[in-house]
Amino acid sequence: MLLLCKAWREEPPGSIPNDDAVLARWARITPDRWTECRTRVLAPFTLGPDSRWHQKRLRLEYQKFATRRRAASEAGQSAALQKWKKEKSDNGHQTRSQRLIAARKLGTHTEAEWYQLLAFCEGKCVRCGATDSLVKDHIKPIYQGGSDSILNLQPLCATCNRSKGPENKDYRPSDTVERLRNVCETSASVCLPSSYSFPITEKKKQESAFATFWDAYPKKLGMNRARECWISCGCETRLGEVLASLNSWKATEQWKDVQYIPYPARWLSDGLWKENPRPQKPEVSNLVAQKRELERKLGIA
Ligand SMILES: [Zn+2]
Repeated sequence: MLLLCKAWREEPPGSIPNDDAVLARWARITPDRWTECRTRVLAPFTLGPDSRWHQKRLRLEYQKFATRRRAASEAGQSAALQKWKKEKSDNGHQTRSQRLIAARKLGTHTEAEWYQLLAFCEGKCVRCGATDSLVKDHIKPIYQGGSDSILNLQPLCATCNRSKGPENKDYRPSDTVERLRNVCETSASVCLPSSYSFPITEKKKQESAFATFWDAYPKKLGMNRARECWISCGCETRLGEVLASLNSWKATEQWKDVQYIPYPARWLSDGLWKENPRPQKPEVSNLVAQKRELERKLGIA
């Protein structure tokens, strides 16, 4: 049996060498024992002109096996080819990536524009106000011929995006398009040649997210330090959250006076952006006002 297994893998298949030492080792018996049973074991084999022992039935089995394997592999290849041809001709059922390519021919956007749009929408889902896992939603869906231009995008949370039907509802603040047209470098991207593409590296993405944050932060001091904190706090993937938090901080009484606003680096590294500032109690804001008044009188401010 061991010899048959070996013979299956030999070249040519179904043959074994005419070498008693090798055969005894393959059969895992001593040379003496091999000499004893050699004639019986080799009975089904015939010695070929290549001075190897051949087992005819094993060779035939191997040939059948090889034919089946080749047929299976050819069938597999032909099925894959059929499928590919079908996908290619099946224009009615384009894949998402094909649809995206078509949408980009109608218009594209840069990551910077996307962050700008996020800032206009206060880093929130424009449908429900959630601030996490925001995705780019095509207002006119791309399968309906919508473009990939910034003017056709709105931030939605993953839940709203999933539950959105085929409707083309624009949830953005009403002046968004107007504001986008004013600030975006390529809101004219609708007119760009279809071959134009914006190479976006990870670094650039981080930069434009940081730039959006920096624009929005009311105290512009210590930018390099702030950028370091921005990266070390992992903010680049949480811009929506950061901007939403920044808006609530900006609404506090404390931040009305720029000298009470922390440095951006501190605001980031102390994790203040993860906290929701409590509404100022009147007596506290009175104290602040008194303190300011006192400082003004003493000429400190
Ligand atoms: Zn939502």
